[in-house]
Amino acid sequence: MVNYSLKVDVDTHDGMRDGVPRLLDAFGRFGVKATFFLAFGPDNSGKAIWNLFRRKGFLKKMLRTGAPKLYGWRTALSGTLLPARLIAAKFPDLVKRISHEGHEVGVHAWDHRLWQDHLDRLARAQIEEQFARAFECFEKTLGRRPGAVAAPAWYATATSLQVQDGLGLQYASDIRGGEFGYPELDGYRSTTLQLPTTQPCLEELLTLGRKDLDACAEEVLATPPDAPFAVIPLHAEVEGGVFEPFLEKLLRGITARGGRVQTLKEEAAGILRAAEPPPRIQVGARPISGRAGRVIMAVPRS
Ligand SMILES: [Zn+2]
Repeated sequence: MVNYSLKVDVDTHDGMRDGVPRLLDAFGRFGVKATFFLAFGPDNSGKAIWNLFRRKGFLKKMLRTGAPKLYGWRTALSGTLLPARLIAAKFPDLVKRISHEGHEVGVHAWDHRLWQDHLDRLARAQIEEQFARAFECFEKTLGRRPGAVAAPAWYATATSLQVQDGLGLQYASDIRGGEFGYPELDGYRSTTLQLPTTQPCLEELLTLGRKDLDACAEEVLATPPDAPFAVIPLHAEVEGGVFEPFLEKLLRGITARGGRVQTLKEEAAGILRAAEPPPRIQVGARPISGRAGRVIMAVPRS
């Protein structure tokens, strides 16, 4: 039996306003608890979308995934021709609703786009400021410090891991791949437990040309027989938007497999309670199929 965790990233204003309530309703119907990572600050996703357009060949792929339909034109222009709107910071009652319904809430970002496109160039003080602004908003809304973060676009640097280590987190979920543990990136040994996203995203499968949503759900739910747990990535804009039927397929599939759904916080507590300490894992930035740019994942030790 596999323990599944549902990791929901909220990247946009509309994803927060419209996607989160739909996800909460669906999770309520199935009686499962998920982990939400919220971007609190400005929705500059228009800038990210324009950057993708500039990449050779990506426009075709984007159109194949139906990105304009997925995100809507307001989001596609947000932070470019139209002003950036705040994301979770604008919806404190909705942030509280997520928490009151028993789901875990963590920090995804202040400015998602800034992190995603410019993290390599940010000074340590700027990275600290990104966390500080999101944490302040989180605390003001929920009255406690966040216990977990998840990096935008699964991208981190030695400096961002170092800043995170000073935040007193229970765990972070910044990386892709199968192994949990303490990551070593570019010579920096992090002291924060990493719980990786182990399964593919629906958008990646669609970008790779998959058409059948039932087959996509099977692919997302498939795990190696010895996998200790599976972390499924969801996006409020996607599974809480036009791909809501896909979420239903996933949740029905988990039930059919006799899978248990746990929050990442529960997974982390189980790992930290175990007699064996979590291993150290070597990680690096690598391309991943179906996604522009590189993500942090386990790599062979050099
Ligand atoms: Zn994100």
